Amino acid sequence: MFNKLIVAILPWFPKKFVWIFSKSYISGETLEDAMHVSKDLNSKNIKVTIDVLGEFIKNLEEAEENKTEYLNLIDITFKNKVDGHFSLKPTSFGLLIDKEVCYKHIREIVAKAASNNGFVRIDMEDSPCTDDEIALFRRLKAEFPATIGLVLQAYLKRTLSDIESMMDLNTEAIPVNYRLCKGIYVEPEAIAFKKYEEINQHFLEDLEFMLKNKIYVGIATHDKPLVEGAYVLLEKYNVPKHMYEFQMLYGVTPRLRESIVNEGHTMRVYVPFGKQWYGYSTRRLKENPKMASHIIKAIFYKG
Ligand SMILES: Cc1cc2nc3c(=O)[nH]c(=O)nc-3n(C[C@H](O)[C@H](O)[C@H](O)COP(=O)(O)OP(=O)(O)OC[C@H]3O[C@@H](n4cnc5c(N)ncnc54)[C@H](O)[C@@H]3O)c2cc1C
Repeated sequence: MFNKLIVAILPWFPKKFVWIFSKSYISGETLEDAMHVSKDLNSKNIKVTIDVLGEFIKNLEEAEENKTEYLNLIDITFKNKVDGHFSLKPTSFGLLIDKEVCYKHIREIVAKAASNNGFVRIDMEDSPCTDDEIALFRRLKAEFPATIGLVLQAYLKRTLSDIESMMDLNTEAIPVNYRLCKGIYVEPEAIAFKKYEEINQHFLEDLEFMLKNKIYVGIATHDKPLVEGAYVLLEKYNVPKHMYEFQMLYGVTPRLRESIVNEGHTMRVYVPFGKQWYGYSTRRLKENPKMASHIIKAIFYKG
């Protein structure tokens, strides 16, 4: 209750207090910060996927700026020999303002990644974006089959049928590449599972379908029962190491992450950075109000 109250009054907190909490989840404000954290994770046998925080844009100039930032990020990542992919949110490139402009920006980013043997994943946003993000993925996949991946959310009731309807994209030579996560947005009950057990059951159903059908999957969760469920399925279908990986958010459940790495599985950590850390942080806090205690500690012990 107390933590929820803190989250509710969050907008009135000074930004610097939120930063004290946020710095465990965000690599920093600059590209250098992202490189530093990524190299550190690489040294622990963990791959990364880097995200420039910038999802709340108001005009197409900001979309253009975001594209430039990603092109620069790709250059610097390869120059630094970081073992990493790139994650992006189409709304940062104008999906909700002009779909064609958004496509052209993302195409340029994917083309640049492709010329360096890189990989770009389209994060999945809230349900008004789902159809457009699947369409964007299909269009890019046709031109860059080995460079582009998509995220699917197990809480959406449509997800299994989306996977089935995209089976034409899956070939033995170049398997389709998804990240499967629970989903982070607040969605209406008519289209989304709400209960923890229901979401987990559908997560495992979606995962089983992917593994059975030789789809590459990034298993993105910090939920121990799901990690254990995934282990069972990986064994059941005798899935080779090159067909899956685990993924986690930077700063979340590092001990579970370490145990997965120690078991010999590939691990990739989502490393967000950028000046727009505030929106990302407050979303993480709303998702897990228990973390509000970090802010309280910051006020009393460090503030
Ligand atoms: C690599 C990656 C990429 C993602 N990309 C997307 C995306 O594109 N679209 C989308 O909608 N969602 C995305 N998500 C978020 C995802 O949908 C979930 O909201 C989030 O991962 C929490 O779900 P969970 O499976 O960890 O299970 P939960 O049941 O939510 O969490 C299990 C346990 O993990 C810990 N935990 C989870 N989250 C946090 C946190 N923020 N802070 C501290 N502890 C925490 C807690 O101990 C919790 O009890 C992504 C997640 C990951 C790991």
